[in-house]
Amino acid sequence: MPAPDPPGAGDPGWRAEVAEEAEDGFRAMWRDLLPIGLDAATGGYRRHGWTAADADCRAWFAGQARARGLAYEIDRNGNQWAWLGDPASGDAVVTGSHLDSVPDGGAYDGPLGVVGAFAALDALRARGIRPRRPLALVNFTEEEGARFGLACLGSRLMTGAVAPEAALALRDADGVCLAAAMERAGRDPEAAGRDDERLARVGVFVELHVEQGRHLAGTPHRVGVASAIWPHGRWRFDFRGEANHAGTTRMEDRRDPMPSYAAAVLAARAEAERLGALATFGRVRVEPNGTNAIPSRVTAWLDGRAADPGVLDRLVEETTRAAAGAEVTRESYTPVVTFDASLRERAVRVLGGAPTLPTGAGHDSGILSAEVPAALLFVRNPTGVSHSPREHAEESDCLAGVAALAAVLTDLLTTPPTPPM
Ligand SMILES: [Zn+2]
Repeated sequence: MPAPDPPGAGDPGWRAEVAEEAEDGFRAMWRDLLPIGLDAATGGYRRHGWTAADADCRAWFAGQARARGLAYEIDRNGNQWAWLGDPASGDAVVTGSHLDSVPDGGAYDGPLGVVGAFAALDALRARGIRPRRPLALVNFTEEEGARFGLACLGSRLMTGAVAPEAALALRDADGVCLAAAMERAGRDPEAAGRDDERLARVGVFVELHVEQGRHLAGTPHRVGVASAIWPHGRWRFDFRGEANHAGTTRMEDRRDPMPSYAAAVLAARAEAERLGALATFGRVRVEPNGTNAIPSRVTAWLDGRAADPGVLDRLVEETTRAAAGAEVTRESYTPVVTFDASLRERAVRVLGGAPTLPTGAGHDSGILSAEVPAALLFVRNPTGVSHSPREHAEESDCLAGVAALAAVLTDLLTTPPTPPM
C-alpha cells in the first residue's frame, strides 16, 4: 500500500481505490517493460517508432491486452488499442499514452501512462465497477518524434493535424521514410490519415504522465491536473559566412558567422528570462566544423515556449534581431492548448482538490483536445528532470497516479449521462 498522504494532499478517498493486486500488477508490468530498448552504456532508452525496440514494446502492449481478454487492434496510423466493451457503441472513455522515447530518454515519460492504464483497468475490475460506456486503452505511435522529427506523429495523423503525404515523406537519420518504415513493420502506409470513424468512437481522453517540471515537487501533492500546454515551436537560424584559414585570415577580414550565432544564443536566454518564457538552442551544425577553419555556415535550432503566444512572438523577434543577418525559418508551431474546463474541474473534484498546473511540453492529449474533451494528469517528479536517464518518480507516487486515473475513469464510466433538457 502507498504511504499515507501528509496533510493538505486532498481527499485521500481516491487513494484507497487501487486494489493490492492492481499494485502488484503495476510492478510486474513495469519490470517487464524496463529492459526493452535500454542502452546499457547510457542507462537511457532508445525506443523510437517502428524500430526493433518499438516492436518489442508493441508486443508487450498486445500481450497485456490479450491477457485481460480485451479486444486488440491497430488503427490505420499504427496506434494500438485495447477495448473493454463494444467500440461501435461510441462515447468511449479512452486512456493511455505512448511507449516510445527520446534518444536516451527516461523510463517514465510515456510508459507510466500506458502501464498506468492497464493497472487502472485492473483496479476497476477488482472493485467490480460496471462501466456504462466502453473503455479503451491506447498506445500512440512515435509521440516523441525522435525518429522522424515530428512529435505526436500517431495522434496527429489520426486527427489530421498533419497531412499523411507530408508525414509519410519524413525521413529518419538513415534516409528511411515513414512510409517505408511502416511497410517494413507490416503496416499499410496508404491507409494513414485522419480517422473519422475512430474519432467518432472516442467520447473523452485521459492521459496519465510523469510531470516534466517541478510544480508538484516539494508539495504534499502526488498528482496534479494540467491546465494548459504552452504554445511552442522550433525555428531554424541559418548564419552564413565564408570559410577561411584560422591562422592566416586577419580578424578584420573575416566573414565569421559564429559571433552572430553566439549573440543569438545569449539574446534568446536573456529575453526568455526577462519575459518568463523558455528558450533553448539545443542543436547546432557548423560547416566545415574544423578547429582551424572559420565556419562558412552555422545552422542552429531555437526551441521556444511561453504561456502566451504574443510573448513567444516577442522572444523569437528579439532573438532574430540579435542574430543579425541570419535567415530564420519556422519549422513547427503548436498553438496553446487549454484543456476542456469542465473535464478538468471534474478531475480536480474527483481527486479531492488536486492542484492544476501548466506545462511547456506537448502531449497526445493536447492533440486529442482539438477533437474531444481531454485531460492530462501529472505524477510528481522529485527533480523535474525528464528526457534523461535521470528521470524519476517514486513508486508510491506512480501508484497514487494509478489510483487517481482509476478514480477519474470510474467517475467517467459510471456517471449516468445528464438527461436532455
Ligand atoms: Zn510523453
